[in-house]
Amino acid sequence: MFRTLVFISVFFFVSLASFAQDTTAFRYARRINAADMRPYLAVLASDSLEGRETGRAGQKKAASFIAGVFLKEGLQPCVNGGYFQHTSLSARANKGRSFQVNEKYFVFMRDYFYPPGIVDSLFVVNSIVFAGHGILQNGHNDYNGLDAKNSAVLFLEKDPGNKAPENLSKKIRDAKEKGAAVALIITDSLEQIINDFSYRNLVLPTAEMPYAFITREMAKNFFAAGKVRAFEKKIKKCERTGKPCGIAASTEALLSFVKETERLRGENVLGFLPGTDKKDEVLVLTAHYDHLGTHDSLIYYGADDDGSGTTAVLEMAKIFSEAAKEGFRPRRSILFMPVSGEEKGLLGSKYYVNHPVFPLDATVANLNTDMIGRTDEKHDSLGIREYVYIIGSDKLSTTLHSINETANASFTQLELDYTYNRPEDPNRYYYRSDHYNFAKNNIPVIFYFNGSHADYHKPSDTIDKIQFDLLAKRTQLIFLTAWELANREDRIKVDVKNDMPNRKED
Ligand SMILES: [Zn+2]
Repeated sequence: MFRTLVFISVFFFVSLASFAQDTTAFRYARRINAADMRPYLAVLASDSLEGRETGRAGQKKAASFIAGVFLKEGLQPCVNGGYFQHTSLSARANKGRSFQVNEKYFVFMRDYFYPPGIVDSLFVVNSIVFAGHGILQNGHNDYNGLDAKNSAVLFLEKDPGNKAPENLSKKIRDAKEKGAAVALIITDSLEQIINDFSYRNLVLPTAEMPYAFITREMAKNFFAAGKVRAFEKKIKKCERTGKPCGIAASTEALLSFVKETERLRGENVLGFLPGTDKKDEVLVLTAHYDHLGTHDSLIYYGADDDGSGTTAVLEMAKIFSEAAKEGFRPRRSILFMPVSGEEKGLLGSKYYVNHPVFPLDATVANLNTDMIGRTDEKHDSLGIREYVYIIGSDKLSTTLHSINETANASFTQLELDYTYNRPEDPNRYYYRSDHYNFAKNNIPVIFYFNGSHADYHKPSDTIDKIQFDLLAKRTQLIFLTAWELANREDRIKVDVKNDMPNRKED
């Protein structure tokens, strides 16, 4: 049937037809269901896993739990007889105590960020100066009437008129010249700076003094409770008028800029299902099971991020194993691999591609799932619940793209939203989860995603907000795409030119 149709060369209908014939695939896809998935997530997003921060006890417990599921389902261990690939990677020091203001601790990469190369220093400041836009030129003096000596100087990243900064290096130099101990740059796009710096070779100023980017929210903490409103008013006025509008306050800030990197130990958990006649080719299904951990005694549960994706991988492992036991083993092998270290900079997946257990040139594709248990504001406001964002599917292989579309058209019928797949999209999600480490190695990927929401990277990302029926349906789409990739006659080809920027290597 398949061949006959190939000869009449209507490609789209060929793949549609192959699905339509494959009632077996649909039969197994139907077994993926909300009731089976909930118990997995109930463990992953429980108190006892403490937010699954890489290197901590909660992450180790999560790894054991995942390995236990693989064992129960009969997946093969493939790393020296075990399920764990122990990863040891360097991450920027994130000791949780490196930035403390008025007895509150801030988290590196969540609240603030500074690039490597900043001088190693530990110091205490007792005075804070807010110097508007931090500009000192052409008669504009944001330091007017302020004594910045030995202070932490805060200023806005942007220039007046909400413009991108013309010369951020000069702003930092000026703060130093005014005698500041440290420059703290208030930004509204911390995440973007981190991502651009990490993945797109964004060049940040090199400066002879310590500086850091901090969020607006964090900036408020430099002011005593009674002064926060005054500070907020100042910021607003400053942005509205563009005029100098400094403010000074006394505070207690203990800053420790640690230059050296931290060795982070985590685990990737690998469950292997060997294929039949094409078993040397491997399909990799990933999701990161680590999250942000516990801070200020608040657990960051990460139920959606990425407990939902991890749950999807576990459920697919279960169903593919059942199919294998019942005589429908996939032709290609499938590696189910929940990874850790994602929240620290995609470290687990990076470790895997640098130490692959199966050759990368025999790796046919990576389907990565990061947040698929909820809906975002955009779709809520449109009244569309059954959707998923598809990212990366057409970047390396047109066939991969059409397989996913066909699987959806013939079964799940979700609305596939390609908004974040556009190269000009400012969020650049393509670079922001584990699939990117595979894409960098010319392995076609799809990243499945529900979009961001108000609970993203907050303690409130909890299991009660997960829509399990939707999670199951999205998992069915990934499953069917995986089924086709693993069972089709021809391995999908890389037929799109890879024009991705090289990633800065640490
Ligand atoms: Zn995530």
